[in-house]
Amino acid sequence: MSSPREQMFIDGQWVQASDGATRPTRNPADQSVIAEVPAATEDDTRQALAAAQRAFHDATWAKMDPAERGRLLRKVAALIYERADDIARTETLDNGKPLREAKGDVLFAAQTFEYYAGWADKIEGSVIPVPGPRFNYTRKEPLGVTVHIVPWNYPFQLGCRSIAPALAAGNTVVVKPASDTPLSMLKLAKVMEDAGVPKGVFNVLTGSGAKLGPILVGAKETAGVVLTGSVPTGQELLKEAARKIVPVTLELGGKSPNIVFPDANLDKAVKGAAFGIFMNAGQMCWAGSRLLVHESVHDEFVKKLADFARGWKAGSGLEKDTRIGPLVSQGHHQTVMGYVEKGKHEGAKLALGGARPEDPALAKGNFLTPTIFTDVDPKMTIFREEIFGPVLSVTKFGNDDEALKLANAVDFGLYAGVWTSNLQRAHRFAAELEAGQVAINEYPVTFPQTPFGGFKMSGIGSEQGASALHFYTRLKSVMVNLG
Ligand code: NAD
Repeated sequence: MSSPREQMFIDGQWVQASDGATRPTRNPADQSVIAEVPAATEDDTRQALAAAQRAFHDATWAKMDPAERGRLLRKVAALIYERADDIARTETLDNGKPLREAKGDVLFAAQTFEYYAGWADKIEGSVIPVPGPRFNYTRKEPLGVTVHIVPWNYPFQLGCRSIAPALAAGNTVVVKPASDTPLSMLKLAKVMEDAGVPKGVFNVLTGSGAKLGPILVGAKETAGVVLTGSVPTGQELLKEAARKIVPVTLELGGKSPNIVFPDANLDKAVKGAAFGIFMNAGQMCWAGSRLLVHESVHDEFVKKLADFARGWKAGSGLEKDTRIGPLVSQGHHQTVMGYVEKGKHEGAKLALGGARPEDPALAKGNFLTPTIFTDVDPKMTIFREEIFGPVLSVTKFGNDDEALKLANAVDFGLYAGVWTSNLQRAHRFAAELEAGQVAINEYPVTFPQTPFGGFKMSGIGSEQGASALHFYTRLKSVMVNLG
């Protein structure tokens, strides 16, 4: 049986690539082809940008009554809730994650649309007192066409994370999902169409990021770019954006510390440490991939964690009892396995996992069981580089200063967890950790109204919450002489 042929969504139309080219998208649990997806051409990309530009200048979006724009976005949220099971199933098939995690992502996305729908008519300027008979006020105007480049680890949730505020502020959107996981953004396009979002306001292009990315970023229509992806892609994108001085938000990788003190609730911390690295098969920007444990509880903690994680059943995300799905692609599986080998080679001690599950039924999938390395030294590659798989590096510390030094010793600064019942210590770490997000006695946690962004090489700018709206608007000062 041939797999279904998907279409992209450009200017309110469902279309194939202009040259008819497609690329398959696969189920990472067994490599079967789920669908053939258009491989957009440069011409398709220019069509999408032009459509978004027309829709922006048209009175139907940016100049729409903002309360009406908010109502439309609420409708988008309602349709996402209504279709949550179908969208989540698609995400699981395409990305591999367990269905309950995919459902959580989809609900988060619906809540994000609800949250920003409420902002649509509250994006206010201000009046500034100035000398003389003058009236000085500011306007927060939408940028125009915004480009959203989405990764494969949370395709629906992270797509919606930037699309919702962009639309609420009156921008129009061109989105490019990752080539490994294009399907859920096409589901979002159907939601937009059915909600009555005017044509051209929302466009989805599927295809290669390396090919389409530079065209999207460098186009004359593009007024803002949001990339959620890896550091090398962010660096490439910045070069392209520099040519045009186009504003960018970069949400990049991480190597986040999860720090456990002896005065913490250790059972709770074990669960937080496990979810922080094994959820989504560790393919999380905010993964707590470096566990720093006080030497007095280190052995007990690692044992409890390994016992807990050993029970995580690997399998297809569609199976009810699956706790850890496959990695997204064969290529990525190889990369992660390369880090496991490097960890062993550089002298870390493998305390759990490090191999495919034994079940022969899973042999075709990109599986790796929860993996824990102890005795990890800060000089080791697995301490410093983002692995983006279910691989935890554990390092001992002896006191608070040492823990802070270890925590801040890498180039990333996305997220950090601290487990302690000591209030002074908790707030000292909250202040001194170099991370955009710090979680005390919980890991990982975020909400649509909570800002999310990276320090250091983890990114520029931030998503979620009211502060994200600054990126999607430009500030104009108007001076009126009343004399
Ligand atoms: P990636 O950088 O390989 O790809 C991200 C997107 O960029 C894809 O859509 C890809 O097609 C596109 N792309 C590739 N080359 C491009 C180019 N030259 N110009 C423009 N776009 C291009 O990342 P990935 O492997 O899909 O995702 C994993 C990475 O994303 C990890 O590093 C992870 O930490 C990071 N991430 C960050 C956050 C965050 O909020 N900070 C969230 C999720 C993922």
